[in-house]
Amino acid sequence: MKDYPGFHALPQHGHQALEQRRVELGCGVWAFIGYSSSNFAAIATRHGYLMIDTGDNIPLVRRAREEISTLAPGSLQGVILTHSHPDHCCGGSVFLDGEADVPVWGHHGFGAESRDGKGLEKILMKRTRRQFGFDIPTARYTQNFMLPRFDKEIPASPIKPNVPVAEGKTELDVDGIRLELYTIPTESADMLVVWLPEQRVLFGGDTAYGSFPNLYPLRGGAYRDVERWAKGIRRLKEFPARALLCGHNLALFEEEIPCFLENYAQALEYVYTATIHGMNEGKSVDELAATIELPDKLRTLSYLAEFYGAVPWSVRAIFAAKVGWFDGNPSAVIPLTPQEEAERMACLAGGEDKLLQAARNALAKEDWRWACRLADWLLALGAGREVRLLKADALEGLSREILPITGINYLLSCALELRAN
Ligand SMILES: [Zn+2]
Repeated sequence: MKDYPGFHALPQHGHQALEQRRVELGCGVWAFIGYSSSNFAAIATRHGYLMIDTGDNIPLVRRAREEISTLAPGSLQGVILTHSHPDHCCGGSVFLDGEADVPVWGHHGFGAESRDGKGLEKILMKRTRRQFGFDIPTARYTQNFMLPRFDKEIPASPIKPNVPVAEGKTELDVDGIRLELYTIPTESADMLVVWLPEQRVLFGGDTAYGSFPNLYPLRGGAYRDVERWAKGIRRLKEFPARALLCGHNLALFEEEIPCFLENYAQALEYVYTATIHGMNEGKSVDELAATIELPDKLRTLSYLAEFYGAVPWSVRAIFAAKVGWFDGNPSAVIPLTPQEEAERMACLAGGEDKLLQAARNALAKEDWRWACRLADWLLALGAGREVRLLKADALEGLSREILPITGINYLLSCALELRAN
């Protein structure tokens, strides 16, 4: 692992353990951690149980269901989906199969993200496959608690709500259990936060996790409003919670909760404010992405390490959301095309052969980013398989030195594509 401008490897932080663990959040309230890509929970009710999210890894979700049948005998009284991301909904069939008329609560705008992507399915699917590493063989997959690869994954379709939850606060009584649901947009616009007032247990969905958040996912998509997300985290801090379970973190208790939420909110606010300040100072998006870093007191917290999202990508997302693609540099008003630039670089190097030699040298020196840049110029000039393989080697080299699993997967997936061509 290495530090790159704006990216910190933070090798002192180990990944959180992936082992399955069942954690009691309150009396008759259990969190299932490490059973799926995302956590889920069961609450004992008078005649059975209620689920908060369902995970996505069918074999282990089945095991959880067996445990629940002992802990809370009876039938399923309902499911609350915190949001529409598949890692929270794909295990639903394990609970719903064979059950009739079970209410499934979800945000009234459930699935907004996929509706935003309408017409863009081809590009988004291609980038989604890369971000999640769908085509990376398991032997080469990097395990990471934010995006674990399980042994026996069985693909499943996500379940959908049949009871839309209205905007604001909704009070429910599910088979004797009092609950409050709140629509609080954060990572996704359709996020629901669940509060058990009697036990003071809070379920935050993906409002915050055990990594710096994915303020910008490499798979692409609409802007994730960073200010709104930070406000959402501060709303969670208002609940006098004794236990907090989010989708991708260990369960937190008592005084660690406000401390975690405060630091998490501050991290988002810092990145947002620093980006806006730098923009007003006339800095380019590349300069800002390379120089904005969390203050040390936040940067050194394990739950703000860049296991999943990354500060530089977030800076770029904020910049683009506020002023669009043009960073203000007049050189970009009528830029050289990739091919024109490549021709001039080859000329500067003393010919395409020299450019190729420079790429080979960069690779030998493990200067992965420079090797990629040189390869891009060569490919723009029509280079063939040798340069594609050289770029694949450079991408793989870089993937071994960075922390965010989304970035590792993206680089490695593209390397596999280059080798297959
Ligand atoms: Zn999730």
